[in-house]
Amino acid sequence: MDSMTFVLFGATGDLAKRKIYPALYNLYLDKKLPAVFSIVGVGRRGLSDEEFQSSVAESVRTFSRRSQVEAQQINAFLEAFCYCSVDVTDPKEFLPLQERVKEREAALDLPENRMFYLSVAPEFFEVIASNIRASGLGTTKGWKRLIIEKPFGHDLASARQLNEKLGASFEEEEIYRIDHYLGKPMVQNLEALEFANPVFQALWNNQYIANVQITAGETVGVEERAGYYDHTGALLDMVQNHMLQMLMMTAMHLPKRITAKEIRGEKRKVMEAVRPLRKEEVSQHVVRGQYGAGELHGKPVVGYVDEPGVSEASKTDTFVAARVWIDDPFWQGVPFYIRTGKRMKEKSTRIVIEFKNPLEKLYRHRQEKPAPNLLIISVNPDEGIALQVNSKNPTNSGKIEPVTVDFSAGTKDVPEAYELLLFDALRGDSTYFAHWKEVELSWMWVEPIMAAFREDLVPLHVYPAGMYGPDASAELLLADGFQWWLDK
Ligand code: NAD
Repeated sequence: MDSMTFVLFGATGDLAKRKIYPALYNLYLDKKLPAVFSIVGVGRRGLSDEEFQSSVAESVRTFSRRSQVEAQQINAFLEAFCYCSVDVTDPKEFLPLQERVKEREAALDLPENRMFYLSVAPEFFEVIASNIRASGLGTTKGWKRLIIEKPFGHDLASARQLNEKLGASFEEEEIYRIDHYLGKPMVQNLEALEFANPVFQALWNNQYIANVQITAGETVGVEERAGYYDHTGALLDMVQNHMLQMLMMTAMHLPKRITAKEIRGEKRKVMEAVRPLRKEEVSQHVVRGQYGAGELHGKPVVGYVDEPGVSEASKTDTFVAARVWIDDPFWQGVPFYIRTGKRMKEKSTRIVIEFKNPLEKLYRHRQEKPAPNLLIISVNPDEGIALQVNSKNPTNSGKIEPVTVDFSAGTKDVPEAYELLLFDALRGDSTYFAHWKEVELSWMWVEPIMAAFREDLVPLHVYPAGMYGPDASAELLLADGFQWWLDK
């Protein structure tokens, strides 16, 4: 891996502390960082290098997945860190930043490879990218890359505008758009599952698959994020990005070569084939929900509109379920169901693939009807793969019953999403980052749904907290003769 400078904007922020420093530290311990590197933290607050280093040490101690943080190792790690106070909206303040970066490059004999990570509010993305260019910080003899966090725009027009502005300073190949669901080991495993297993490869199409169900359920409510969430909702917070990314990863076909370009090309083809919805037909395919008061883990919880910071009249969606059709020859006739919600019964992200059962007729005269074969990919919080098959149970008069074959590997000490993603970005591998075209196509698909919600063309179903969303979500599948699997 090339030696480099990592410039982190938003170095005193919550994301940096909870995710980025622990991820860098774990990469360091695993010897996955270059032998020599410099990390320049940028924030608005005035901090000395020592103060900054001790806040990094504190965040590593608090949030690293490794329970033991060795004093000696952390001290060596911290030596790479320095801090620069910059108001990112002021172009003049980029000059001292550039000097600092160059000073350290000279002192450590680093090539001018520069990684810029924008862990700041989205309104700063454009101005930082443009100041990086204008100041000369982005003019390097080596490579330069930009990592940005979601949200990538708040609608299609703003996403396009942002992309254009970033494009003035960085090439598409230099931009790494983080969707941390793409960093989850089991989402990354989807591609290997198909490419390393001829069995699954043979079955990955409409001849064998009846439907696909992608769920991302949270038990938490809006917490203290009402200011952000009430203007966003589940559709923009989860569906436009994470849910559609999981859908693309599940539905993509194996490219001839496993490269970032080809994989992202296949994902793009999926999104291009997703059947667009007209605003008027959204209500037939999309369920909008909002949690009401209910009970979770035996404790009463308030409804969304009674949460602090939420207006009583709020119609924000805290739950969305949708039926998605992919109009290509592989998936013709196979519904993909996605659902995501807050205050659901269980915290669980999973992908369930239900296989067709052509033998069903044979059992018509028998009492027991075999359950369908299911391939279950657990993404979060547990990670694993399981296959539900049917087998005669000798202890129950030879009745055919579903049994689950669990392929889960041990999940102890699995690297976190941010570790995998940062490692890839540092190596210049963009496979698991969202390409602009994927983002754009996702916004194009979501926009009519946004409009239908805004114009109240879709009913808002209030569901009791602690359920799997409103009944309308179950009815969406029932209409096609299916049901959500694995709901407890
Ligand atoms: P935060 O408010 O905790 O931190 C913001 C950082 O920006 C601070 O370091 C602050 O000093 C810096 N900053 C603000 N104004 C500045 C200015 N004018 N000049 C220089 N620096 C300035 O925010 P956060 O929670 O760390 O989130 C950062 C970004 O990541 C946001 O875009 C957020 O949407 C996204 N994100 C956060 C999380 C999370 O878990 N916190 C998860 C996913 C995405």
